[in-house]
Amino acid sequence: MSKLSVTNHNRNVTGLTYVYPVISRRAGGLSIGINFNPNNACNWRCIYCQVPDLKLGSAPEIDLHLLEKELRLLLDDVLNGDFYERMEVPNEQRVIKDIAIAGNGEPTSLNKFDEAISLIGNIATELGVFPNSHFVLITNGSLIHREVVQAGLKILHDFGGEIWFKMDSATNEGRAFINHSAQKNEAVLKNLTLASHICETKIQICLVDYQRQGFLETERAGFLDFLTQIRAATPIQNVTIYTLARPSHQPEAIDLTAMPFEIMERFGQEIRALGFNVNVTK
Ligand code: SF4
Repeated sequence: MSKLSVTNHNRNVTGLTYVYPVISRRAGGLSIGINFNPNNACNWRCIYCQVPDLKLGSAPEIDLHLLEKELRLLLDDVLNGDFYERMEVPNEQRVIKDIAIAGNGEPTSLNKFDEAISLIGNIATELGVFPNSHFVLITNGSLIHREVVQAGLKILHDFGGEIWFKMDSATNEGRAFINHSAQKNEAVLKNLTLASHICETKIQICLVDYQRQGFLETERAGFLDFLTQIRAATPIQNVTIYTLARPSHQPEAIDLTAMPFEIMERFGQEIRALGFNVNVTK
């Protein structure tokens, strides 16, 4: 049993509906995760997705009172309680690195997306978590054309937040295969442009090796071509390349392995040559 599944009857901060703590050694501290998709529903089905029992769909109606209660409970436990002691977090990692909206599905499919962003931002500001900690939205970016999403992104921007925009392929065929998304490059570019003009946006590329085919040349060329267009059309500067860290929960899991680091690093160099800052993580 991991430390983070240890619960306390009065202050059970690990069995909540919308809010969960993650101690990240890599990030060097605590991340407060927010899950708008307790129903495990997403409008995509990425072959590397680690959400168990993933379903096609949207986030359910949110109970904003419960979100508020849970966020206050966890933040109070971290800031004023013995959370770090109970979880045996080393002293140097006793810091809230970020509040990350990263659920078991696509968070921007939430009806009250703007209200939820506002609530989280206000609570974190009131409790002194912002502006020191980051406010991050992890999204597949497919719903940014919706007004309620853009309204939420404006609020995210007002709290100094940033968008991590998933882009695992830059070809229509690759996206259909990896993400089970019918979205075309034109729509992705439109949404990236919209997002990045509202709020700081970073591109996240997850490269997986399917059936040991390595990194396909069509995919590599597609990325470089599309990233060149993105460079010209948007203010985006940062790209992160990463690979499978934990096993997929999808039927394709058996055929997936992590992309070799050397391949990701070489690809990263090519993206740097286009003028982006690139971070390659194992
Ligand atoms: S967008 Fe995220 S939650 Fe949705 S299927 Fe892909 S990895 Fe899973």
